[in-house]
Amino acid sequence: MTKRPIRTRFAPSPTGFMHIGNLRTGLFAYLTARHADGKFILRLEDTDKDREVEGSIDHILLCLNTLELDYDEGIDRGGPFAPYRQSERLDTYKKWAQKLIDSGRAYADPYTPEEVQKFREDARKNKQAFLYRHHRPENPPEWDGNTPLRFRSDPKKYKWHDEVMGDLQSGPEVIDDFIIIKSDGYPTYNFAHIVDDAEMQITHVIRGQEFLSSTPNYLNLYEALGLERPVFATMPHVMNEQGNKKLGKRDGAKDVLDYVRDGYLPETMMSFIATLGWNDGTEQEMFTKQELIDKFSLSRVQKSGARFDEKRLLWMNGQFIRNLDSDDLYSRVEKFWPESAAGINEDYRKQVLSLARDRLKTLQDLSSLSDYFFQEPTPNLDLITANKQLKKISVDELVELLKVSRDRLSKLEVWTAESIQDKLNELLVETGQKPAVLFSLVRIATTWAPFSPQLNDTLHLLGKETTIERLNLGIDIVSAY
Ligand code: GLU
Repeated sequence: MTKRPIRTRFAPSPTGFMHIGNLRTGLFAYLTARHADGKFILRLEDTDKDREVEGSIDHILLCLNTLELDYDEGIDRGGPFAPYRQSERLDTYKKWAQKLIDSGRAYADPYTPEEVQKFREDARKNKQAFLYRHHRPENPPEWDGNTPLRFRSDPKKYKWHDEVMGDLQSGPEVIDDFIIIKSDGYPTYNFAHIVDDAEMQITHVIRGQEFLSSTPNYLNLYEALGLERPVFATMPHVMNEQGNKKLGKRDGAKDVLDYVRDGYLPETMMSFIATLGWNDGTEQEMFTKQELIDKFSLSRVQKSGARFDEKRLLWMNGQFIRNLDSDDLYSRVEKFWPESAAGINEDYRKQVLSLARDRLKTLQDLSSLSDYFFQEPTPNLDLITANKQLKKISVDELVELLKVSRDRLSKLEVWTAESIQDKLNELLVETGQKPAVLFSLVRIATTWAPFSPQLNDTLHLLGKETTIERLNLGIDIVSAY
């Protein structure tokens, strides 16, 4: 095989929602190109006007931009093979279609849709697979552009290699005369992508599993057009969490931009999507973009469907957040502060963030994890009554524990995280309680939040005065229960 520079493409259709599976295909095409110092091309496959959804193009661009999947040539960037939008390439398809007509490999389809439907039904009645080529017209009319143009196939066996699926083969029965240009003048995907991949000198066709069964037909068309086959790599489906069916919107998988809006980092999304069905041969689960570029290879993409495990995504996001440097994290949480933080100075916010960061699974968690640093929390007794340990303890005893904590802490002269911790440890000894009881109780009474950073750090940042005030209020509230 000739050694040409690697060129891959991502060729989405503007049909709305950018599924995680689509984006993974784009990411793998991107990584294949970048790994080999090749070129990555963005092509828009917009020849199915009925399925087009307004706003999809901006959406696609925003997804690529968010994950920083930069392309070398593409719809809004131009390049040596522009235009990259199929609807602007109709003349090119006509030119290639004409070649097929001239060589007797394409013909005008003379049948009405009703007639084709009848052939289909007859085949079903006779328990035969429907093949259009069984009904090839003997003397097709000249093609005037108002009827579909069909490929005249040459049924035969095929063997081919797929970088992911391995060695594959098929028999002549799967080869048929498919439409290449529709009656509305637009080419079908089956035709347009082959023309474009050839013209754009794409070396690796990386796409979803739904195209695998059509590959023998594509091989037939490459031959008819005298084109060299590209390398094929078929991406297995992304499956739901149970692994028993293809991931759909109903499985809760959101658009990648929704995840980012909900406080997932773009680098988490990139690493997570890359590891849906790919690994580098080690246990490593989190990769930076550069590591992915260095390590990616199609040969390590697994054949079977990859499970979409949202818990793993959440875990991974927490890890990525923890790895960010403080200033970087600070700049990213701008939109995620609770309203109560409005007008609060940067220095204090930074201190809050440095305490909360280790507990953040998403940036969105910041709000509930920090609100009580900026305003008086609203007491919520459910936090005590539903707490496994605290619900076993009588109200009187809870009040007593809060009182002794308040008394000892109020005597503390030096208010540092260390001195508070020492005092809390002494309180454990004095009350004979476990941390899961005493520390939880003090934490709840001072924050009224389901989670908070380490207790001593929290009290330290709240300050002595606020801590004592809140404990006093907590004592009143628990007593009244
Ligand atoms: N336009 C096709 C899709 O969105 C792309 C298939 C391909 O990459 O060849 O599924």
